This record gives sequence, structure tokens and C-alpha cells, in this order.
Amino acid sequence: MMAGKIRRLKKPITLEGKGLHTGELSVLKLSPTDELGIWVEKEGERYRLQDLEADGSFRGTTLFLPDGSSIKTVEHLLAALSGLGVWQVAFSIEGSEVPALDGSCLPLAEELIKNVEEFSLDEQFSLDVTFPVWVRDEDRGAFVAAFPSNTFELSVVVNYGTERGITQAMEYVHQEESFIKELAGARTFVLEEEIEEIISRGLGLGGTKDNTIVVPLKGPIPGLRYPDELARHKALDLMGDLALLGVPLKGLVVSYKGGHVLNVELTKRLKRACVLGE
Ligand SMILES: [Zn+2]
Repeated sequence: MMAGKIRRLKKPITLEGKGLHTGELSVLKLSPTDELGIWVEKEGERYRLQDLEADGSFRGTTLFLPDGSSIKTVEHLLAALSGLGVWQVAFSIEGSEVPALDGSCLPLAEELIKNVEEFSLDEQFSLDVTFPVWVRDEDRGAFVAAFPSNTFELSVVVNYGTERGITQAMEYVHQEESFIKELAGARTFVLEEEIEEIISRGLGLGGTKDNTIVVPLKGPIPGLRYPDELARHKALDLMGDLALLGVPLKGLVVSYKGGHVLNVELTKRLKRACVLGE
């Protein structure tokens, strides 16, 4: 997509399915809107995405609405919107979680691409990283860092230690075609040994082999869409979490063993840094 051009939804889209964590049926509705931005609608009220509180500590990203309700697992929806440059749209959820679909954002991206139109913007509509901003988790040796760049790029390393034999790395330079080909189809995954703990926290109740890759304790991971699908999915999650900024990001974001907690924290720091930097 050319600079200065973004997309808006032109027809409503409705998708339904079970949520990954609640296991409950929910309905996602996307609607056209006249105002620039990603809007969240709830019972007649509408909120700008970047004004809502977000939390990444429940194995996904949760949005909190002013009425006390929340929407779980928004990251794949937001990744699809950001990946396709759809920055003028409203969404609402009947239920409390975005449907898991196939564990990736491909079904949603395919639906979106048929129902959007491109338009030109005169005003500046991006958040430019002008100096390094980072967050880290010292206990895990993990970090997510944003650096200045002329494009939107991601560099992601997944490292589950040499004993698991799983290290994957990928680099992604954002373009709509690359998004569809390289990231959109990468599915959610879970390590086999984490499943019990996740279920005991009341999460992952909608996880099935059709929407989640289970990484076995030993041996190869069966049925992958890409050899480095885990890294690609981490990149997809990162892209979705960065969309919490409500505008396209211009910068390079490096994630080493990162996840939703660090991603969400980074978006908060970027918002603050942006205000301070002005
Ligand atoms: Zn994900």
C-alpha cells in the first residue's frame, strides 16, 4: 500500500465461533464508520481503541471497557486490521472473546480483503519511533524493543532453550502481500507441558487441535503450515498488540522471547514516549 493510503471497511462483516480461552460462542461484528481510527462499540457507546486499557497477562490480550466489561483475545483481529491497513473500522463483540476461528487470522483477513476500500489521507497518520524504547523481563531474559526505521519491520526470536531444541527466528518487513503470505496463516501454539497449568487458570477452554498447535515434549511438531510457524505467530501477535496504538507504527520492533505482557507494556511506553517526544 502506498504512503498516505489506508483502508476502510465498506460493508459490515459478521463472524462467529468459540473463543480460545472461554470456549464460549461469540459473534464478532465489524462495521464501517465515517471517522478515522479503530473503534470499539458496546451497547450504543463507542471508544477509540487506544483509549482503552489493555492487559497481556492472560495468555492473550484483553481490552477493558469503561462499563466494566472486557473483550479477550483481541490480538489476531487487530493483527488482521493492521496487516491489511484497515484503520477506519468499528467492531463489537456479542460475548466476551473474539472467536478463535482456525487459530490464525487468515479467515478474517480473507473476509476483510473482500470488503475494504482504499482512500488517501492528507494528514499524518502514524506513530514514528524516533528513539529506542524497550521493555524487558529480566527473569526470563526476554525483551521487546522498538527502534527508528523508515518502514514497519518486525524481528522475532522464539527460544525455548536448547533442551527443547526449539529456536526459531524470522524477519518481516511490512507490506500487505507479505502479511497475507508470511504472517496471516500462522496459528496459535501451546507447549504440551503448559496445557495443565493453562486449564487450571480457567484459560484455553476453547483450544482444540483445529485451532492450536501443540508443541510436543519431544520430537518434531506435526502438521505445521510453515517450518517456523511459531516465530511467525509471535510476529502476528506482536503486530496485533502494536495496533493497540490505534495508528500504524513506523519503526523496527525486535522481540526476543517476547509475548503479550511485554508487547502491551511496549505499546504503553510508546504512547508515553510519543507524547513526551513532542
Ligand atoms: Zn496469538
